[in-house]
Amino acid sequence: MSTPAAEFVNVSQNYGSSLAVDSINLQIEEGKLTTLLGPSGCGKTTSLRMLAGYLQPTAGQIIIGGSDATRLPPEKRNLGMVFQSYALFPHLSIADNVGYGLKLRKVPAAERKARIAECLDMVGLGHLASRKPKALSGGQQQRVALARAIAIRPRLLLLDEPLSNLDARLRVQMRAEIRRIQAETGLTVVLVTHDQDEALEMSDSMVVMRAGKIEQTGSPSEVFTAPASRFVADFLGYENFLELPGRGLVTIRPEHLHLASADSVHDAGGLDVPAVVTSVAYRGTDEILTVDAAGTVLKVSVHRNSQTAALPALRPGDPVRVTASGGDIVALPAD
Ligand code: ATP
Repeated sequence: MSTPAAEFVNVSQNYGSSLAVDSINLQIEEGKLTTLLGPSGCGKTTSLRMLAGYLQPTAGQIIIGGSDATRLPPEKRNLGMVFQSYALFPHLSIADNVGYGLKLRKVPAAERKARIAECLDMVGLGHLASRKPKALSGGQQQRVALARAIAIRPRLLLLDEPLSNLDARLRVQMRAEIRRIQAETGLTVVLVTHDQDEALEMSDSMVVMRAGKIEQTGSPSEVFTAPASRFVADFLGYENFLELPGRGLVTIRPEHLHLASADSVHDAGGLDVPAVVTSVAYRGTDEILTVDAAGTVLKVSVHRNSQTAALPALRPGDPVRVTASGGDIVALPAD
């Protein structure tokens, strides 16, 4: 394997007596998009700030491009950063905002101009170069922040919840744009998010964190299809956890459980248990049915399409059978 773009080696961060990051080891692969994913307070931002150099690790080493960067100040790390708040300079034009880091680095005016134009084109804002930030929408301002971070040709691009201030539609659109820009530039990107959909859609590699530790790393499909723990499964939307005789603790996604009439018979090999419907929640294209299977509460997602529309509506109290095929049952290690 080639030299990682960056590495955490036994890195910890204490805030007083609380351990925000607990001896993590992580390699950030060159030219890939890695997300740090996890619930609030799990140590994502703290890890990113240590990588950026804004925070000194209490213990361990930060390696960037194969060299020890633990004591290197942020401005010597050549990293681009975009935060949740865009933090544009309000008195500068969009072009001057994008060129700010280039001016600091004494890049000659002609090259500066060319790079500003290139980066603004990349985010689709070339036509707004002379405007001031306040004359731009939130989504456009976030694109300017991205162009500004890319303009310096950073060794690493660090993004801390960059999309969380945008409305839902824009957020989805910007995910694809960041992916496109990353592919075009070949940049190594580290993205912090608490949004599992964002991480699944955008990552080459996902790092799931829990209480200052790394719980699992892998590609989105590896993590999604084979969560390493109940915590990861729960975080990724696996809502059903069951103890199966001879199988131990397993988890099944609501969309992988199916309902059949109470008197039907099924293939052995998967799950097939009697249950009673306890509630039905309408959610547009699907319905979430809660059922009770001998004391175990299960959530079943029933997708409504032209085929299932004709099925009789189920009501609380109706007896059913809950089934799942063997391939959709994910075994978990005991916690
Ligand atoms: P969020 O998604 O809410 O930003 P996070 O995963 O990024 O969460 P961190 O911000 O890294 O988490 O915080 C990790 C832990 O360290 C939390 O328990 C937090 O309360 C604590 N913490 C963070 N910054 C400080 C600080 N400056 N002083 C004391 N404790 C802090």
